[in-house]
Amino acid sequence: MVTGDSEKYGDDFIKFLGTAGARFVVAKQLRASGGLWLSAESFNILIDPGPGSLVKCLSSRPKLDPALLNGIILTHRHLDHSNDVNVLIEAMTNGGSDKKGFLLAPRDALEGKDPVVQLYLRRFLEKIDFLEEKKIFNFPSFTMETPVRHHHPVETYGLKFVFPYGKVFLISDTAFFPELIHYYQGADILILNVVIFEVRSANTILHLKYQQAKELIRGIKPKVAVLTHFGMTMLQQRPHLLAAKLQDELGIKVIAAGDGLKLSFSSFFPVSTE
Ligand SMILES: [Zn+2]
Ligand SMILES: [Zn+2]
Repeated sequence: MVTGDSEKYGDDFIKFLGTAGARFVVAKQLRASGGLWLSAESFNILIDPGPGSLVKCLSSRPKLDPALLNGIILTHRHLDHSNDVNVLIEAMTNGGSDKKGFLLAPRDALEGKDPVVQLYLRRFLEKIDFLEEKKIFNFPSFTMETPVRHHHPVETYGLKFVFPYGKVFLISDTAFFPELIHYYQGADILILNVVIFEVRSANTILHLKYQQAKELIRGIKPKVAVLTHFGMTMLQQRPHLLAAKLQDELGIKVIAAGDGLKLSFSSFFPVSTE
């Protein structure tokens, strides 16, 4: 690292509090399911707090203190993305004594007959807003866009974070559709939820398969691709071996996320020489 680098990026990072991606992997906790903790210039967002998220925050080394969260994002309402949202709203707001923080989620996670966020907790929050197609959210040192509704049984969005030094995109749960390549073009770091290995599993399962993830990485050409959210068939194939194979085949750096992986952005973005 060059002098001045750490100043430029601060300590911005994403930490994987879980890499589990399907019913059995979550239920048996073969991988943890705590979501992603994003920190940029000390602005902290928890993305998709699935089962065990609070415990994973507190048991992280160093500890990730939920009271330091500025907000929570649910890419969609499924249990593996939202189970701990209620307890984390409490933890973020000191049991409701500090009215603070935001919650961003698709409309169907908050409204309708079966919302996933309890009503009495919502008044603890400073702001609640819906994720919608092509919406841009402004945060102190970066922006976030939800470019397109994914193909998934419930309303679901991927997230495009644009920092002054680079772009970190997350393709959350979705079936493959070719336009994804267009919508997520320009990623420096591309995180993909790759649930299924088998090529021939039913197309009614609305999740990315390994070969489709490969097609996306080839089309989007990020500097780094990070595979996560593994189902059983991906775990059986050993994600790190699949990542190594993809890296070989595509000539693009590919990482298989493990529980507790911390991606420090300073190690991925080149230092500008301006
Ligand atoms: Zn999922
Ligand atoms: Zn889902």
